[in-house]
Order: sequence, then C-alpha cells, then structure tokens
Amino acid sequence: MNCRESELQLDAYHDGELDLAGSLALEEHLAACPACSQRYAARRLQSSRIRIEAPRYSAPAALRRRIEEMLPEENSIKRKIRWRWAIPAAAAALLVLAFLLPRPADDEALAGEVVAAHTRAMMNNRLLEVASSDQHTVKPWFGTRVDFAPPVKDYAAEGFGLAGGRVDHLDKRRVAALAYKVRGHMIDVFIWPLASAGERAPAAMTQRGFNIVRFDRGRMAYWLVSDLNAEELGRFARLLQEQK
Ligand SMILES: [Zn+2]
Repeated sequence: MNCRESELQLDAYHDGELDLAGSLALEEHLAACPACSQRYAARRLQSSRIRIEAPRYSAPAALRRRIEEMLPEENSIKRKIRWRWAIPAAAAALLVLAFLLPRPADDEALAGEVVAAHTRAMMNNRLLEVASSDQHTVKPWFGTRVDFAPPVKDYAAEGFGLAGGRVDHLDKRRVAALAYKVRGHMIDVFIWPLASAGERAPAAMTQRGFNIVRFDRGRMAYWLVSDLNAEELGRFARLLQEQK
C-alpha cells in the first residue's frame, strides 16, 4: 500500500468500515510510515474535538420520522450514522469557513490609514507634540495620554535618531506615534496594543509612494511609514523588532 491509497482509506478505517484484510494492510502501512500515521492521529484528534465541542441538536421526533420516511430504504445503522454526523459535519464546515474568510480590518485598509495619518501630521507640522531625542523624556510623555506604555528607544547609533512623538488615531483608537529622523527623511512608527499576544514577521508594502512595514511583537502592533527607501525602512523595522 502506498501513501495515496492509505490516505483514501483513513476515514473508512476510522469509522470501522474496512474489512479485516483492508484494516491489516492499512495498519501495516501506518506502522511503517510516519507521515500517514501523523495524518491519522490528526484525523482522530479532529473528530474527537468535533464530538466534544460541536453543539448537538436532536430533531423533534415528528420531523425526524417524516424525513426518515422520505429516505430510501436502508439499513437502520447507516441511518443512525447519518443523524449522528450531520450536525457536527456542518459545524466543522463552518469552522473551516471561518479560517478561510478574509479578516475585516485588512492590512491594505490599515496601510491607507497609516499613510493618511503620517501625511496629515507632516502637512500640519504636528509630527512632534513632544520633541526630544531622549527616551526618558518621550516615554513618560505618553504616560497620561495613552492607556499603554509604548517601548521608546533612540537608535541614533544605528542611524535612526529619535525626534519625538505624538498621539494619533488609527484603527478607531488612540495610538502612540514615534518620529525618527534619517538624513532628510522622517519615519513615523505607530504602536498600539493588540487584543491578544502574537508575533507577525515584518511585511512591507507601498501606498501612494510611501513605504510601509508592519509587524506584531509581544502584545503590540507596529506600523512604520516613511518616504525613506524600502531597504532602510526594513532594516529599521528589524531593529525595532529585535529590541530588548
Ligand atoms: Zn504513507
């Protein structure tokens, strides 16, 4: 038996529908093939999860009788199996759908907000509500203005000098914006806390001529935006991501 055949028979085996020879052949393959035995373990876990977590509803007796009368004559065990699995199967299908659907606040829309906030602050000359290269000045400034403590650090030694910060609005909430200066370019770093801890590797994008990099670190979302070239902005994002 090869892996393809084994995969085709896993469900039937799990449901006890293989004959003795078929079961033995599959068991022999599972014992020798780590990939298939892992696949089988995952399937068993999945079905036990569905059994435990999926809500069950029993059809009212009258409805059930009516539907059973409409079904072609079959042995009663099969009919029982159909009722037992119909609703968990629907729940499993919904679970899969939930993973496949796009998330509502997608990166592209947020990138548009990030560019808008950056250009608005540049044009109104209010990039820096607190102007200082000293992290011990900038960090406490946020203390009374946002409900979290953004990590603030100067990277002048690496070429990215802290210029200051301000409070801005993104994704329907108050966020911390740190401004860094590289030669003639300003970089805005927007930071806000996430609902749950998560790590997302830096991803780069471009909107309206601005370079953008976003990543998640610990419980914080980071969005960098600048007219600086993508390579240097990416390098700065990695510095921020690795900061102690
Ligand atoms: Zn195999």
